[in-house]
Amino acid sequence: MSSLANNYNRRKISFKKGKGSFLYSSKGVKYLDFIQGIAVNSLGHSNPYLNKALSYQSKRVWHVSNAFEIPEGERLAKRLTQNTFADLVIFQNSGAEATEAAIKVARKFFHAKNKAYKNRILCIKNSFHGRTLAAIHASGSKKMTEGFGPKIPGFDHFVFGNHKSLKKSITKKTAAIMIEPVLGEGGIKVIPKWCLKGLRKICDQKKILLICDEVQCGIGRSGKFFAFEYSGIKPDIVPIAKGLGGGFPIGAVLMTKKVAVGMTPGTHGSTFGGNPLAMKIGNAVLDKIMKKSFLKKVQNISNYFLKELNKIKNEYPEIIKEIRGFGLLIGLQLHKDQTKFIKKLEQNKLLTIRAAENVIRILPPLNVKKSEINMSIKIIKRVCKQYK
Ligand SMILES: *Cc1c(COP(=O)(O)O)cnc(C)c1O
Repeated sequence: MSSLANNYNRRKISFKKGKGSFLYSSKGVKYLDFIQGIAVNSLGHSNPYLNKALSYQSKRVWHVSNAFEIPEGERLAKRLTQNTFADLVIFQNSGAEATEAAIKVARKFFHAKNKAYKNRILCIKNSFHGRTLAAIHASGSKKMTEGFGPKIPGFDHFVFGNHKSLKKSITKKTAAIMIEPVLGEGGIKVIPKWCLKGLRKICDQKKILLICDEVQCGIGRSGKFFAFEYSGIKPDIVPIAKGLGGGFPIGAVLMTKKVAVGMTPGTHGSTFGGNPLAMKIGNAVLDKIMKKSFLKKVQNISNYFLKELNKIKNEYPEIIKEIRGFGLLIGLQLHKDQTKFIKKLEQNKLLTIRAAENVIRILPPLNVKKSEINMSIKIIKRVCKQYK
């Protein structure tokens, strides 16, 4: 019997090695991995450039605490702000910590402005912001919060796409609206450009803050550095994590100078957050992703992949309902429960993962090759054929 608690439904496969888009199981089976640790390994498995950065830093200094200056962290923060809406960064270790920090920044902002009564965060019902106590209540999902009471106060919810419900939920106590530009766990549901623009406008009118949770859709996953860039808006606070460390746990919250007024020494911290080892690797990830040609390539391969997937959808409309998402954050929505389909893909050596609304999430590394996309297309077609 396993000594691990039973909080996961694990597949009965383990891996001894990964290389780029591929994973090799302990039994010697080679899989095309289009999960990549759930949109985490942005540059694939065992990337030589990241290996070099990790190895270099591991021989120098791993961890010193935030009692000291950390030049690699200064550098990573500079790069995360130089070409984005943000002016300032706080480093964390995970997505949930990053969204929690985002909530703290928003509340502290109004506190610093003598409006401490403005402390409620308005979120989309059944969104996903992580698994800490505050984050599960931010998500407003019954499944995630059940049994973990008492309820953490301070969160309100509106229904995805329901503008009336949104407007009704904003009160004078609302501090911020927090949304995922693409609901990842929620089924690769994209918030349309004009809706994001509308959200920005409402936030400006009501003088409240807009938090875009880019933990899953950020760092190039969408084909742009941030997914919200497609709408041309500028948020106030953006938590990021998954893709930033390329497999090394890093989280961060990005913010404008204006909203950071409350974050004075001692107001927030993290023992591990932003340590030299993590920062070195984060910088190495950005070395690759921040190249203009890199994101262009993601967009090109995404266009090709989406076109091919839509062809399959048109060939099998009774199985596939919709192709969702953009960049390499793709959802294959089936008409029925997707469990069996995912299993069949796995038997055909393609790894994918579920999301809500019968969606199969397809998350290749951002440097995926066209030949690997073609390989996955073949497998998906084959499974559709068997599935009939
Ligand atoms: C994964 C995810 C989180 C939580 O990240 P963890 O690193 O698991 O804590 C938060 N928000 C979104 C949108 C995510 O996809």
